[in-house]
Amino acid sequence: MSFDSLGLAAPLLKAIADAGYTTPTPIQAQAIPAVLNGGDLMAGAQTGTGKTAGFTLPLLHRLATGEKLLNKRGKIAIRALVLTPTRELAAQVEESVQTYGKYLPLKSMVMFGGVGMQPQINKLRDGVDILVATPGRLLDHAQQGTLDLSQVQILVLDEADRMLDMGFVHDIKKVLALLPAKKQSLLFSATFSDEIKNLADRLLNAPALIEVARRNQTNDAIAQKVHPVGRERKKELLAHLIKGGHGGEPWHQVLIFTRMKHGANRLTDYLNDQGISAMAIHGNKSQGARTKALADFKSGDLTCLVATDIAARGIDIDQLPHVVNFELPNVPEDYVHRIGRTGRAGAQGEAVSLVCVDENGFLRDIEKLIKREIPKEIVPGFAPDPNERAEPIVLGRTVLNPNGSRGRNPNPPAGANGRGGRGGHGGGGGRGGESRGGSRDGARPSGHAGKPGGAHTGVGGAKTAAKPHAQHAPRSASSQPSRGDGSAPRHNNGPRLTQPKR
Ligand code: AMP
Repeated sequence: MSFDSLGLAAPLLKAIADAGYTTPTPIQAQAIPAVLNGGDLMAGAQTGTGKTAGFTLPLLHRLATGEKLLNKRGKIAIRALVLTPTRELAAQVEESVQTYGKYLPLKSMVMFGGVGMQPQINKLRDGVDILVATPGRLLDHAQQGTLDLSQVQILVLDEADRMLDMGFVHDIKKVLALLPAKKQSLLFSATFSDEIKNLADRLLNAPALIEVARRNQTNDAIAQKVHPVGRERKKELLAHLIKGGHGGEPWHQVLIFTRMKHGANRLTDYLNDQGISAMAIHGNKSQGARTKALADFKSGDLTCLVATDIAARGIDIDQLPHVVNFELPNVPEDYVHRIGRTGRAGAQGEAVSLVCVDENGFLRDIEKLIKREIPKEIVPGFAPDPNERAEPIVLGRTVLNPNGSRGRNPNPPAGANGRGGRGGHGGGGGRGGESRGGSRDGARPSGHAGKPGGAHTGVGGAKTAAKPHAQHAPRSASSQPSRGDGSAPRHNNGPRLTQPKR
């Protein structure tokens, strides 16, 4: 199939050709005609499937062929709103809007927190057709009266599951209240939890349903390895590996994942002390610092980028030679996401996980999901102490205890029911902790988790191994005092959920 057969306007086809795309991806082949039809859409697609073009192209087509509208001030009215969970994703989506819309007379802007309001106000005043925004900053503008969404015709919720995971449910509802009732709504989500289905029920009108297969299988071109190591020696081992101490050349471009923001900061300091250039990238960093870290990393000036899952998501860095899980993710799907960053075209990538005794439960969950055992290799001099005991892992205000059963915390603290206000969230799931709040739009991160009821159905209809690990992390997960050593506090053979002592 070619793009020509999808009914897109010539300026879009020209931009597609400029981008070098010849064939629509499966999500594009399905989503583009559905959106051009004018109906609502619920689409299951992860990053990497081409979903952005899947909604951007038909959105641009509809705006370009529709009538331009003016707002009360006589300026171009916003006709399309795209909401994204993170700043990075917002920036990337708007870049796609510009790329695909370059031959069209449409104006777009991106809006997110962490940067000044005034330039955004100025741009809004000039008038834009398409606004790409994170919910928090959008609401700030709405409250200040600098934003008029009354003429929006198309709404896109991109990575809706992540938005819910990050506690944006109330913000989304507030945004919806600012929009006209009659509009075309498109909801993109990698997973379909009950929360997502509830949101879809509220928002979508007889939607077309599109599903593309989940990518829970890892790529064979990626060499995966687990280095078992003592909890306190992870940093040392990492520096050893990066310096080429385990054979081979020193590593030059290493994406390192931690679970929490403080962990990312402490690890960065340690690596810098060891003479290894490293920068952390997460939601507490200014946009400028993040952009610089990313640029330096891409150019090769920076050896290590230390990221939380949220911060790394949506960043267009992939094909890296080395990805390191300094801490295993508590959500098994995140492992697949993380290591999908490695594997250069043609060449092998390497994904290394430093796993201490606390994380054996996480490792089992991951191996179950990817349906293979990851080879274990002890690095000489770094063998874990066989007497080391598993300790609970603290994720924000949630603790995953060793040897406990999984389930909903029967005694969530006051205000943790997710109905209280911005930053609240719904039921349990594995998305807890600060790593999930990383890139949040200047608002408080919330721990939570969008997978109530245990296993959820994958987009392709397959049951995935997701289960409710963590639950509520009601207020800022980052306010949780952390262990001083930067290591994940402990784990877990099937975590029981309790609140840590305050
Ligand atoms: P996305 O899932 O939207 O993040 O897109 C993943 C990547 O696929 C981006 O780098 C796009 O530039 C690229 N891409 C999107 N559509 C196509 C296509 N039809 N052919 C080739 N590459 C594409």
